[in-house]
Amino acid sequence: MTDFPLYAVFGNPIAHSKSPQIHSGFAEQLDDPVRYETRLAPVDDFSGHWRAFLKEGGRGANVTVPFKEQATALADRLSDRARQAGAVNTLVVGEHGEIVGDNTDGAGLLLDLERLGAPLTDARILVLGAGGAVRGVIKPLLATRPSELVMANRTVEKATGLAELFRAHGDIRGCGFEDIEGRFDLVINATSASLSGELPPLPATLFNEGALAYDMMYGAALTVFLEWAHTHGVRCADGLGMLVGQAAEAWYQWRGTRPDTTPILEALRADLR
Ligand code: NDP
Repeated sequence: MTDFPLYAVFGNPIAHSKSPQIHSGFAEQLDDPVRYETRLAPVDDFSGHWRAFLKEGGRGANVTVPFKEQATALADRLSDRARQAGAVNTLVVGEHGEIVGDNTDGAGLLLDLERLGAPLTDARILVLGAGGAVRGVIKPLLATRPSELVMANRTVEKATGLAELFRAHGDIRGCGFEDIEGRFDLVINATSASLSGELPPLPATLFNEGALAYDMMYGAALTVFLEWAHTHGVRCADGLGMLVGQAAEAWYQWRGTRPDTTPILEALRADLR
């Protein structure tokens, strides 16, 4: 066991992370044993813990709250998608010890949306929120060529600023919740309002027929946003699949193989219930 390549997830708190279960599942499925641990780093010394991990022979890591932005400074090189996201959720130690910072959240979301058969190309997409997670998913969403991508946020300037940043990549507009106009085929809640059981102020006429409502948050029960969407008769999905998808993409960066996410997602879902 100790000779197996060492990986970890860094965060604070970290005890409830599902990453060890997910990556152990990938390792077993692909018959590629690894040692995968949780590392609780103090808020003020993430880099010290990362360096100690490297000395132990660490080959790569997942990075979660609150270290995703700090992790950009630990990398010798950032992938394009990490640079665009302004955050790193995956660190990869190269053959010669160089550290690459990557961001697999966007790829994870896309993998899940494709699994769900979500409307993407030519669809009207609404993203609620303009935080770190949104930065990482805008470009992959625009790459699917939606007819329009609208980003609505409580702090309006954050949404308009982000829209400006990604304007060259597609038809994108930022606004406040009160300025949301028309109906959408895909509505992604990327606010952390669900964490506190709050629902952003949304118009009742938000969904087109056949629309999908997606909440990046996940849990045993439907989030407040998904409960609300459910009452409007639309298909609902939470972010557990995105979590497994971003992990699968991280695994690919580390090990060069692509796990089948479906059985891992099913096992996690069963555990949640
Ligand atoms: P950030 O803290 O970077 O951003 C939070 C966003 O939520 C901001 O846009 C903020 O608006 C908005 N917000 C917070 N509270 C409220 C509220 N009460 N009403 C309306 N808007 C609110 O968080 P992240 O972007 O990192 O994460 C967002 C969500 O996505 C979280 O629930 C997180 O768990 C989830 N996530 C899931 C992943 C997965 O793999 N499934 C991966 C990454 C994130 P404002 O700008 O006005 O403050």
